[in-house]
Amino acid sequence: MEKKRRIALVAHDNMKRDLAEWVDWNWEVLLKHHLICTGTTGRMVANTLMDRRGDNNHGRFDITLLKSGPLGGDQQLGSLIAEGNIDMLIFFWDPMQAQPHDVDVKALLRLATLYNVPTAIDRSSADYMISSPLFEGDEYKPVTKDYKSYIERTLEK
Ligand code: PGA
Repeated sequence: MEKKRRIALVAHDNMKRDLAEWVDWNWEVLLKHHLICTGTTGRMVANTLMDRRGDNNHGRFDITLLKSGPLGGDQQLGSLIAEGNIDMLIFFWDPMQAQPHDVDVKALLRLATLYNVPTAIDRSSADYMISSPLFEGDEYKPVTKDYKSYIERTLEK
């Protein structure tokens, strides 16, 4: 059986239309996985999937809505990444507009990199990711870096 992946989806306001189109294009694949979204993005994703499926049975989606990004949703997602609970991140961030939660955005991208979580930051990278043979299979396990020497480093007194 295909592995159910935990896919995080986030889009800044100016990028939400792009993400809605991408979700619409990939709805059949996405419905097989657990989607974890920041609040406003998640409502939009759910609406797109419901439109596609032609029903309003919200309950049957495996979708988790966190808080809205600027209200802590990015940090919640970062925490899920640190705990090993996210398999991939689709994050359409806005390169043209500063965000009130810029520091949270940076922190989220930093943790995704630190924990080697596959991350797509625009439609083309998201297309590559979802169509990769590695997405289908069960074999690929991202390498996890060993931070033991950092954790056990000696601190000067
Ligand atoms: P939102 O948050 O989905 O609640 O709009 C996105 C973000 O992190 O800016």
